[in-house]
Amino acid sequence: MPKKLYRHGSRLKVVQKNKTDIEYRVVENSWMAKLAAWKLGAVSVAFVLGKTIYLFNVTKDEFLQNKTWVRHELCHVRQFKQYGFIPFIARYLLQSIRHGYYNNKYEKEAREAEKEI
Ligand SMILES: [Zn+2]
Repeated sequence: MPKKLYRHGSRLKVVQKNKTDIEYRVVENSWMAKLAAWKLGAVSVAFVLGKTIYLFNVTKDEFLQNKTWVRHELCHVRQFKQYGFIPFIARYLLQSIRHGYYNNKYEKEAREAEKEI
């Protein structure tokens, strides 16, 4: 539940209600996000690997202004932190294979997180 966003150099931090900080960084014009956009048929894409949110066709400022989108991607940052880098990728891929992207439980969780205030 991000309460306040502030910049610290190129790093960004979110202060949460429970005082747990989620550290993350944002990378613009990512070729990996471009690939994802092409694959998904989406115009603008953000995707997370570990603590990094990779963007394509959306600027960092535009992305950060979209609080719903930020909450969604930060939920994925938390998931990486919770399960560990490789284990989370494995879990995520397995979910996607079994249930598809939309019904992947980690996507469901991230969509729920969008509603948090
Ligand atoms: Zn997602």
